[in-house]
Amino acid sequence: MKIVRLKNIGAAVLACAAFTLAEETMDTTWRKLTAEEERVIVHKGTEKPFSGKYTKHPAAGVYACRRCGAALYRSEDKFDSECGWPAFDAEVPGAVRRQADADGQRTEILCATCGGHLGHLFTGERLTRRNTRHCVNSVSMDFVTEDGLDKSFSRAVFAGGCFWGVEYYLQQSLGVIRAVSGYTGGAKEFPSYKQVCGGGTGHIEAVEVLFDPRQTTYETLAKLFFEIHDPTQSDRQGPDIGEQYRSVVFYRDEAQKATAEKLIAQLKANGFKVVTRLEPAAKFWPAEPYHQDYYFNKGTTPYCHAPVKRFE
Ligand SMILES: [Zn+2]
Repeated sequence: MKIVRLKNIGAAVLACAAFTLAEETMDTTWRKLTAEEERVIVHKGTEKPFSGKYTKHPAAGVYACRRCGAALYRSEDKFDSECGWPAFDAEVPGAVRRQADADGQRTEILCATCGGHLGHLFTGERLTRRNTRHCVNSVSMDFVTEDGLDKSFSRAVFAGGCFWGVEYYLQQSLGVIRAVSGYTGGAKEFPSYKQVCGGGTGHIEAVEVLFDPRQTTYETLAKLFFEIHDPTQSDRQGPDIGEQYRSVVFYRDEAQKATAEKLIAQLKANGFKVVTRLEPAAKFWPAEPYHQDYYFNKGTTPYCHAPVKRFE
């Protein structure tokens, strides 16, 4: 018996299903494993400590499942635990499943998409602020460099008022690898917060989302966007007033545009006078570091945004 994750339908997406190994390997999108990878990923083995290629590996990028390619961990969450295996203190939301290990002592971690064995989870060691260590076998993962992210994953850009709050909620959505606060829509290069707030740059506050289409969909994220800000407010969002706070979906292709149009039509049918604009995605400029992960670093929740159900 294995537990498999049903894609794209929210947090409570675990369902039990009986799979044999033969059925699993019939998934043609999975990579063919070497004997050592199969020993670890399928038969829950452990690589020798300090032997893995990602144990000491500080490069920026994303760690994906070796078997199915699903995004598992961000390099930002990797730390040197000196335990002999790669260590992370957070996973891509929803990407890692936990279950009691057969030894009855530890917590096993598995890829939530394909069920492949990753390693074990430890808490309470006080090694990082999150107080959590995902101890992962290098052979269970592939590393995707920053330059390779767009080949493996997808992006979306949303603007709905103060980017702190939009980023806060999108970052926690299943399958979201990164949510970055920044500026877009204007012509000025390297815009600063002060310049954007001062007006005249044409830029607005926006959030760029890097997501894994194996684990979520653009529609799921766009729906969330429409439910974490008020799409009926024009040139403002709650207490934040100004054109830099207007509601915009910056679509990256015709499929994203069609999805946003469909959702806006649904909202209008539900009685909401939506003012959200659709604009083609332009150059996205990440905001200053102190704007990133603002609420996480502050340890509070948004003053400017709150989830409201609008599609039911
Ligand atoms: Zn996988």
